[in-house]
Amino acid sequence: METHFSKEQLKDKDNKSSEKIIRKCVHCGMCNTTCPTYDLLRDELDGPRGRIYLIKDMLENNKPANDKIVKHIDRCLSCYSCMTTCPSGVNYMHIIDHGRNHIEKTYKRSLSDRFVRSFLSKVLPNSIYFRIIAKLVLLIKPFQFIFPKKIREMIKLMPIRFPKKTLPNMKVYKTNKRKKPVARVALLTGCVQKVISPQINESTIRLLNRHGIEVVVSKNIECCGSLNHHLGKSDLAHQAFKNNISIWYDEYLKNGLDAIISNTSGCGTTLKDYGFIFRTDKDFKKKAKKISELTKDISEYLDDNVKLNFIQNDKAMDKEYKIAYHSACSMQHGQKIHEVPINLIKKTGNQVFDIPDGHFCCGSAGTYNLIQADIAKKLLKNKIFNIDKIKPEFILTGNIGCITQIAQGTKIPILHTVEIIDWYTGGPKPKILKNL
Ligand code: SF4
Ligand code: SF4
Repeated sequence: METHFSKEQLKDKDNKSSEKIIRKCVHCGMCNTTCPTYDLLRDELDGPRGRIYLIKDMLENNKPANDKIVKHIDRCLSCYSCMTTCPSGVNYMHIIDHGRNHIEKTYKRSLSDRFVRSFLSKVLPNSIYFRIIAKLVLLIKPFQFIFPKKIREMIKLMPIRFPKKTLPNMKVYKTNKRKKPVARVALLTGCVQKVISPQINESTIRLLNRHGIEVVVSKNIECCGSLNHHLGKSDLAHQAFKNNISIWYDEYLKNGLDAIISNTSGCGTTLKDYGFIFRTDKDFKKKAKKISELTKDISEYLDDNVKLNFIQNDKAMDKEYKIAYHSACSMQHGQKIHEVPINLIKKTGNQVFDIPDGHFCCGSAGTYNLIQADIAKKLLKNKIFNIDKIKPEFILTGNIGCITQIAQGTKIPILHTVEIIDWYTGGPKPKILKNL
């Protein structure tokens, strides 16, 4: 695509990298065929190619965002399905992030939008605030009909159960063996995940410990920063990024880290992008690059580094389960990890099936199901329709957002891949499967 940035504009690092990306686009439109919002809305501006044009126009002409641009950019899920399809290697993720930051700087949203986005940006990344709000929401749930539609949708998505933690909070989870650990990793326990599904981190820690790997959980690391990053709130996002990079890099230098494990693929995608985000920051460039290099999704780490010890420790394992694997967008498109978790699950001896049209998002996409509820619901409906074609006994995935979203649309149990691997290597049977 031809670009017309001035020399002055190209002194800005974000303009410079966006210009390079835009030039790669040959406007073939292939990306539209796999874009969930284009598929639903059939509007060129609700597809990746149209959005690239909108962003290019704002940036090149120093234009503030307007209602029309914001509408179409806000509708993007940041699912990155377009990046998997694009034959020219256009890094849409970096373009849309740049576009969102520009909108945040140049556009004044309505009061209600500002309130909702500011509320989400403060509450979700902080597990203490989130726990308090979630408990309050439980009290007001029966009266949700009195609230405006947007708030009602958010109330509906709030969990009603908060499983108890079974592992104590510790800085270092040791391997419980006299032998020296075979590796030492840090685990990102996440912000929302550790409140609504603590069993995912517990399965991860148990599984790693059982295989001789020491796990470090830094108590001052909560959110990876992606929630605010995707809301275009770059100041808040950068605070989280810098905090995490400093803590992990310090741990890496002082005590050694073989990897940083993410068991939420949305967060993993952002951690792997820290290196790019700080590419010109003289204080953080080197550290951020190292943190990105160390980051591995749990499935990726297990596959590359751990000889899993599968054992028959439960009568329920006699049965061969039919499992649907939901490939989270951030996993398959963001991190290009698809076969690895499926192959790991197959090692349990169960049947695993890809969900038809599995490249399409379930509608979760960070805060998307909270702020674009109508589109998210349509995507969820399509996802459930496709899951039902498989008739699975349960669903596995690697992202807490997808677990929460899909659970809204089906009674089929859905859980994290790591919970099953933990069970089949000596851990407890996941509670959600108690009736199977
Ligand atoms: S597929 Fe790639 S090159 Fe083609 S229009 Fe989309 S972004 Fe541009
Ligand atoms: S990130 Fe997803 S929703 Fe956004 S343009 Fe690409 S394919 Fe479409």
